[in-house]
Amino acid sequence: MALPLGIDFEFRKLIMDVHVSSDKIKYCYQCNRCTDNCPVAAVQNPFYNEITNCFDPRLIVLTTLLGYKDVVMAVAGTKSALIPWGCTVCDTCDTVCPQNIEVTEIITLAKNVTTGAGLAPDNVVAQAKTVFESGKAIPSQPAIERRREQLGLPAVVAPDVNEVQTLLKAIGADKKL
Ligand code: SF4
Ligand code: SF4
Repeated sequence: MALPLGIDFEFRKLIMDVHVSSDKIKYCYQCNRCTDNCPVAAVQNPFYNEITNCFDPRLIVLTTLLGYKDVVMAVAGTKSALIPWGCTVCDTCDTVCPQNIEVTEIITLAKNVTTGAGLAPDNVVAQAKTVFESGKAIPSQPAIERRREQLGLPAVVAPDVNEVQTLLKAIGADKKL
């Protein structure tokens, strides 16, 4: 992947601050263990290949460490993008990293910066709106309720939407939607 020359030092500082007490990210020696053990990188799902060259946590660590903000924030659909949205936050990479680097935190920060700039993928924004409006990622539907009843499962307790909205407003999420 060809990397652009623009280094964003503020973005780089944000990334470095993930490990503010130890500067651990500097000691990533690109061993690839995070990528080797990442279930998303292993599957190389066509969905992810469509929106980026591949999903590769090692490359995300390298790119963010170098301050290549534009690469990390590239809009979904841009083939040169190294966007972080494939990460399911399973934390496997954090567990296996020999340098104790919090890869998941770095990727989450990259997602947040991208969202703050209004460049989150449409499907992610739509999912966040659903959570804001219904308090659930998958709103309850009569068909789901019927199926649960047939299977002898208890009715799902309705979430407190006001509480969810209060929490999301407290972090400014409503203004980003
Ligand atoms: S496992 Fe850790 S040290 Fe190895 S490439 Fe990934 S982040 Fe860097
Ligand atoms: S947390 Fe994300 S990057 Fe790390 S192993 Fe899981 S899916 Fe891969």
